[in-house]
Amino acid sequence: MKLSLIIPCFNEEGSIKLLYEAICPVLDVLSNYSAELLFIDDGSTDHTLSYIQRFAMIDPRVKYLSFSRNFGKEAAIYAGFIYAAGDYIGLLDADLQHPPEAIINMVHALEEGYDIAAARRIDRSGEKRFYSHCARQFYRLIHHLFQVDIVDGAQDFRVLKRKVVNAILNMPEYNRFSKGIFSWVGFKIKWFDHENVNRVAGTTKWSFKKSFSYAIDGIVSFTTMPLKISFFFGGTASLCGFFYVLYLFLRTIIYGVDLPGFPTIVSLILIMCGIILISLGIVGEYIGKIYMEVKARPIYIVDESNLGVNSNEKDFN
Ligand code: UDP
Ligand code: MG
Repeated sequence: MKLSLIIPCFNEEGSIKLLYEAICPVLDVLSNYSAELLFIDDGSTDHTLSYIQRFAMIDPRVKYLSFSRNFGKEAAIYAGFIYAAGDYIGLLDADLQHPPEAIINMVHALEEGYDIAAARRIDRSGEKRFYSHCARQFYRLIHHLFQVDIVDGAQDFRVLKRKVVNAILNMPEYNRFSKGIFSWVGFKIKWFDHENVNRVAGTTKWSFKKSFSYAIDGIVSFTTMPLKISFFFGGTASLCGFFYVLYLFLRTIIYGVDLPGFPTIVSLILIMCGIILISLGIVGEYIGKIYMEVKARPIYIVDESNLGVNSNEKDFN
């Protein structure tokens, strides 16, 4: 049996060596598997790639793929899935926030018959209060409003069976929202709870702005519910407008014309324009996504690799 571990790295020179050293003993424990470490260098501008190349020189298990620029973690995960050769395929961060020793139990869970073994963190220590509050509310919103069930605290840290990865590769969409995709494909999952671990070096690549647009992307790429909500608001507003006109009409007939309600008109115009513009924005968001999908640009471009891949080959499926 073959085990592939995919590690997306973006400017991780401070932690990548520690990570490699932490993974080696794990692979020794899992010595009945022939292992492959697949580093995906997501356009790092520091020495991450030269570290990886040094590992590859001394360790034939190390494979790497280096992107021509930063394409984002989702693209790195996708590329990893394409080139991973294993029967079991693991995914972990390069900053040691995903303790490699947990992989041993995850692999055992797959041996027991589960299809996915995934980590779930039970706290959000080390994160800014406001940030973790927003993150939690976002997942609750997704959970309540939309069909996609994303478990709170679920992480990308997981080991998957080949069939799960094949299912994911059958979703070659441009806007990739991994958390949604992982849950959308289904399969039997076993959760491993663990406490939050802080990064060993460097800083997180997630600013509040980046997380916010990730949240919008996640919603838009997984559900059309916002369109329905704007339809609902539009419908309600028209209905109110209709009754108001009816009321004005009857009042004029019964009591005659009185002073025109200037403030009423202004506030109605403002509210209605607001609703229209928000709805347009929502529609625009979807059209933008369609535009990106229709262009069908490659999700990543490979610059360098020891896998015999130089240019971008769109060989999914
Ligand atoms: N990462 C990546 N491309 C990016 C941003 C992040 O490959 O554009 C990698 C990063 O090197 C790390 C993992 O994705 O291995 C998680 O990133 P980070 O630690 O910044 O996210 P967090 O743990 O804070 O969610
Ligand atoms: Mg991290």
